[in-house]
Amino acid sequence: MVNNTYPRPRTQAERGLPASRRRFLAALGTATAGVPLLAACGTDAGGPAASDHRGSMGDALPRVRVSQEASPGHEVKRTSFPITAVGLTWTGSPRGVRLRLFDRSGKPGAWQNVTAGCPCGKDTETLRAKSTTPPNRALVPAHGSYGYQLDVDAGVKVIEAIAIDAGHLGRKRRTAPSGTPSKSAPATAPGASGSAVAFPPPGLVLRADWGADEAKRLTADGRESSPTRFTRVQAITVHHTATPVDDPDPAATVRAIYEQHAVSNDWGDIGYNFLIDRQGVIYEGRYSGTDGIPAHNADGEVVTGFHTFGFNPGNIGIALLGDLGKQKPSSRMRDSLVRLTASLAARHELDPLAGVTYLSPTSGKTTDGPALGGHRDWTSTECPGSAAYLDLPDVRERAAQLTR
Ligand SMILES: [Zn+2]
Repeated sequence: MVNNTYPRPRTQAERGLPASRRRFLAALGTATAGVPLLAACGTDAGGPAASDHRGSMGDALPRVRVSQEASPGHEVKRTSFPITAVGLTWTGSPRGVRLRLFDRSGKPGAWQNVTAGCPCGKDTETLRAKSTTPPNRALVPAHGSYGYQLDVDAGVKVIEAIAIDAGHLGRKRRTAPSGTPSKSAPATAPGASGSAVAFPPPGLVLRADWGADEAKRLTADGRESSPTRFTRVQAITVHHTATPVDDPDPAATVRAIYEQHAVSNDWGDIGYNFLIDRQGVIYEGRYSGTDGIPAHNADGEVVTGFHTFGFNPGNIGIALLGDLGKQKPSSRMRDSLVRLTASLAARHELDPLAGVTYLSPTSGKTTDGPALGGHRDWTSTECPGSAAYLDLPDVRERAAQLTR
């Protein structure tokens, strides 16, 4: 069914954005269809919080560049920068969009079918849309292309397309110290530092170290455009990103997802609380403050993400990078998912094998679901892909063993 009632994304000018982004958007506003829209965002501070956050890093952020088109037509869109990924938002058939890429010389590649990915989003967006379904979204890898073209079925309306150059990290990745203590996880409890279920798990990559530009979360006056809210943990939900399984630069993909979620979708941040790549590297997702404890506040409550419509508060969203419809998670990815879910289950006294009755703090509605489940356990979606979903019983069992 075509959904034409879904709210139009706010235009750039309608968003309250930091000075750096407003300068960037001024450049966008003067561009015309088919003309490269080129600007560097993320090279200067967007407010006090951004300055504070990056002050400890002492490193330059990756240079992220974006070309954005609202309601793009069928004409070829070219960029003057190499495209990491093309982000698309559309209504109508989830399989009604095709795309082809162009190399620097203007030579087109083959048409490819675009598959809608995880339909994650903000609960407030669901409420705004009432009974309508959320739009389809996809992030198509572009492998350094310099242009793209869309072809859509009748009844499909592409709301927005963004070409993203996610840039490169010019420094070595650092990781969070494992086993950060908190009020909710005293040193003697499961999940304490040094145990098999230490939180954060060893090797977790913090936002600053995958190159998150904190200015993208802020409004013009330096406030969070989606203020953090924290609640008691009720469930853990696994997703996939429907991006390529063979990803040469997963951190760049995380930055591209951040760009699409925070800016293009106007959610103010990346929707997932954690992401895991095929090498088993775990990335911090949604911002949760400056205390160094990923996803949590000092009282052990979890920050609300934007990953499972209607069930976001108290639900920890973990995205597996890749399209896991047919291809299973790698053993390293699976091991990291087990370690992360075990550490979260121990920290929040969740039984990975149990069911829960989820209580929505916003609507007051209760819904039965798994303590550790997949996106499709909560809503009608392919996410986290059939291959990953079939893996979940084993993940639950192994996570439960670690917490015993
Ligand atoms: Zn999902």
